[in-house]
Amino acid sequence: MIIGGARVAKFKRPAIEADLAEEAKLQSRYTALLASAKIEIEGQIVNLSGIAPFAQSLDRDVRYRAARAQWGFYQANAAEFDEIFDALVKLRDGMAKKLGFENFVELGYRRMRRIDYNAADVARYRAQVLEHVTPLVSKIMEARRVANGWDKIFAWDEPLTDPQGNPKPAGGEDFLVAQAQKMFDDMDTGLADFYRLMNEGGFLDLTNRPTKAPGGFCTSFSNTGMPYIFANFNGTHHDITVFTHEMGHAFQNYASRNQPSFDYLWPTYESAEIHSMSLEALAYPHIGKLVGEDSAERYRRMHLIESLTFLPYGVLVDHFQHEIYANPGATPAERHEMWRRLELLYLPHTDYGDLAFPAKGGYWQSQHHIYSSPFYYIDYTLALCCALQFWVKSRQNYAGAVADYVALCGRGGSAAFQALVASAGLISPFAEGALAAVVKDAEAVLA
Ligand SMILES: [Zn+2]
Repeated sequence: MIIGGARVAKFKRPAIEADLAEEAKLQSRYTALLASAKIEIEGQIVNLSGIAPFAQSLDRDVRYRAARAQWGFYQANAAEFDEIFDALVKLRDGMAKKLGFENFVELGYRRMRRIDYNAADVARYRAQVLEHVTPLVSKIMEARRVANGWDKIFAWDEPLTDPQGNPKPAGGEDFLVAQAQKMFDDMDTGLADFYRLMNEGGFLDLTNRPTKAPGGFCTSFSNTGMPYIFANFNGTHHDITVFTHEMGHAFQNYASRNQPSFDYLWPTYESAEIHSMSLEALAYPHIGKLVGEDSAERYRRMHLIESLTFLPYGVLVDHFQHEIYANPGATPAERHEMWRRLELLYLPHTDYGDLAFPAKGGYWQSQHHIYSSPFYYIDYTLALCCALQFWVKSRQNYAGAVADYVALCGRGGSAAFQALVASAGLISPFAEGALAAVVKDAEAVLA
């Protein structure tokens, strides 16, 4: 994800100034609550980032215990999570009403600076995901069940994408940081030079530490003219995904530094996620440098499967938020019911077994965007449709696809989403059939 400082400023009005301060306080309370997690697993105490290696262990029992321990933390703090979110919803709804909107949905879109599509376009896109991707993901999960010889596939089995064990980075942080230079050297000279600046300048904070806030993001310091990457390496393939993702954001920001307006340094989020997610895909041919050549093909397959399985989850998070802000008077219990109903629609294959908290509709409490960046989520799914198009192109003409990517990064936020997409020779995800076409290509490669 990216965190851009100037974004909310346009919607500051004296009438809601105190509300914005209160909103920031509640968001910090949520982050602090997540960062406070001390979860016991296999005789160790880990935080929410540190649980990931256990959650995707090859040992099914370890995965189950990791899931139980993780949800135990959310269960133990359920009342506080609900209280923070309830306050956020009421605050946001109140701000919308003070500014003359019916509810927070339209204000949420304005805060995301969306100007060339609306909630109806997004609803149509969600329907496309439901039609073309949900059945495919259910099929992928069923194939995984068969490959592993399981009776049923449970929620704690879903993180084990590769039946042999998800390929891991071939070394620790120092290894990855050094190998990434070799990878970027082979991809593009501009990317390679930029990465050297980031690394030598100390603009990477990648290590997971106790009480460090979870997640990964990229932001920028206008006084240095350099971006900055925050991550929580935990030894899983996620380190590579997060690192290539945030490097995409960082490179775009740097490549746009000569744009004529400060506001062009970052594009809107759905465009920004094209830069990050496409770099994850453009790294495929060189990924052996990070995971080891023996595991490269398995990594590519795993990443592609995880991209496809992400799409229905991503639109679920978006659909849920539309319902939340259209019904600001709902109780916490009703919100959990809303999530569960939508989850059954988009992810019908997910079975929580005896994990009572997510089984009753609590999963969303772990999705920090819902608290911290309302309506920032469909962006990933729109961008993924574009990133998959870059991936398809890169298989036909790698150098051409990278050149188009680098040029797109340099255009920063100088145009709205669909114009930027068109400028890179990509088809808008809102265009009829765009999503179905890339999903079909991905499915063919996985077959
Ligand atoms: Zn991102």
